[in-house]
Amino acid sequence: MILEVEDLVVSYGPIEALHGISFSVEEGEIVTLIGANGAGKSTTLRAISGLVRPRGGRVVFRGRDITRVRAHEIVRMGIGHVPEGRRVFANLTVLENLEMGAFTAPAGSFEQGLKRVFERFPRLRERQHQVAGTLSGGEQQMLAMGRALMARPQLLLLDEPSMGLSPILVQEIFEIIKEINNQGTTVLLVEQNAFMALSIAHRAYVLETGRIAISGRAADLQQDPRVRAAYLGDV
Ligand code: ATP
Repeated sequence: MILEVEDLVVSYGPIEALHGISFSVEEGEIVTLIGANGAGKSTTLRAISGLVRPRGGRVVFRGRDITRVRAHEIVRMGIGHVPEGRRVFANLTVLENLEMGAFTAPAGSFEQGLKRVFERFPRLRERQHQVAGTLSGGEQQMLAMGRALMARPQLLLLDEPSMGLSPILVQEIFEIIKEINNQGTTVLLVEQNAFMALSIAHRAYVLETGRIAISGRAADLQQDPRVRAAYLGDV
């Protein structure tokens, strides 16, 4: 098991966003967390990467309790986070954004990391001197993913990579996620686009208002009448 989340409770002030959720991710998997707006998907990713402090429960990465470890240390340990809305550094160039992603990487590994990211995202190579704020939404998503990959994560947390992208670009981004996974990176994918997420994931958890309501193999969830009715648009 690369990641175990046990009984995680997160509150924002008086509001409890996660009421004690448990799930796990095995090495090599793509696991997706799906659910409606406000279900707590982003909060779950933030708690794993140390950006919010849980009020209860544990996050265990490769057997080590990281619940109280600081965010930059968690990046160094091998967890990359691509946040919702990309959050690229709009005033920096593509190349400078990628440099920022590499600040925890071992000295001397930058050129090699850059080569790998440019092979994966040729468009970033073409646009390496362009200011990131002027990239299209899809290009910004690629940049946010490339920036996270510069740190060579073992586990990649992706928060709604499909948000605001055209159907063609969504296809392209999901193909890239599959390739990244095929090359050995474990992926925890948060999505509102349940259809696409279930089509590439091995397993899935459905989050409903801070609780896990359904879990199982992605192929089984695609057939589950509750999932079909609530998340796949079946009437
Ligand atoms: P979406 O798909 O809309 O991003 P989500 O499933 O990712 O939703 P979260 O963003 O994790 O959901 O939010 C879970 C709950 O926590 C929501 O009720 C939200 O309003 C609340 N919440 C999230 N961030 C904060 C914050 N910084 N302060 C207060 N409440 C917050």
